[in-house]
Amino acid sequence: MPRPDHNGMIDGYSSVQAIRRLDGKTPRPKPPDGELSAVATSAGVSTEPAVGRPVNVAHTALPTRHDLICYACNYRFMVTGRLDKVLCPKCKTQLETGDKHIDGTWSGTIQTVGRVFINSGAVVSSARIVALDIRVAGMCRSTRLEPTRHLELDSGAQVELDKLSKLKIVILESASLCLDEPLRCRTLEVFGELQAEARPSEQAVLHPASTFRGTLHSPRLIVYEGAALKAYLHISPPRAAAVPVTVGNPPPEVGEPPVDAAILQECDAPPAVELPPVDLATSEGP
Ligand SMILES: [Zn+2]
Repeated sequence: MPRPDHNGMIDGYSSVQAIRRLDGKTPRPKPPDGELSAVATSAGVSTEPAVGRPVNVAHTALPTRHDLICYACNYRFMVTGRLDKVLCPKCKTQLETGDKHIDGTWSGTIQTVGRVFINSGAVVSSARIVALDIRVAGMCRSTRLEPTRHLELDSGAQVELDKLSKLKIVILESASLCLDEPLRCRTLEVFGELQAEARPSEQAVLHPASTFRGTLHSPRLIVYEGAALKAYLHISPPRAAAVPVTVGNPPPEVGEPPVDAAILQECDAPPAVELPPVDLATSEGP
């Protein structure tokens, strides 16, 4: 039917009915304008059902979005849908996408934008692994672990701690780790239990229900409510005078002022510059 406000044009309803005629189907009588608008909005935000018709609620499944980092050039990009064949939009490398699981004794090279799992009991030697995330619950010897996002450590993980200084380390919720050598890394996130001398160069984050014991040297510390912390803390921003803060062990003397006050007293520069950025989240998780 030509639209009364546009000479020579037909409306959407008439065009659908014309297609039904071509398919040999009987065109449906056009409902009154009010009912048509109610049907059109029933799958949207309107909760008013059309008179005399069942309401069909539409569900739209959005395709999965993948946040990928090219292992050839470190370019970060987003891919929507299935990960079958992925071409890096920057360096045009055809990227491997699958997840890999390693069991038993293994050596070799893996490159993927997926994830790699070194399972409990596995022994990896003389290997190079490049992946988005690498989860380790086994042993790695003479192995280059190159995650473009996180290196995740679980119980039983044995890695060469002197090779992790540029990596973002995650201690998994199921992990209970005691490290006998200093852990130098870029960032440290603890969800489980860790006892170590940790030296992240950027920041440490203790998530709810995590436990950290030992010594922590970091420019920045974030402790979420529910985390347990019993350690010597050396929290100082880069290019600022180191201000050791001791909490927990040894216990503070009776009458000793609170930690913040102690820091202010020891600082010569204005407190806004020298105060270590210790973030204490109070209510929200990560
Ligand atoms: Zn690339």
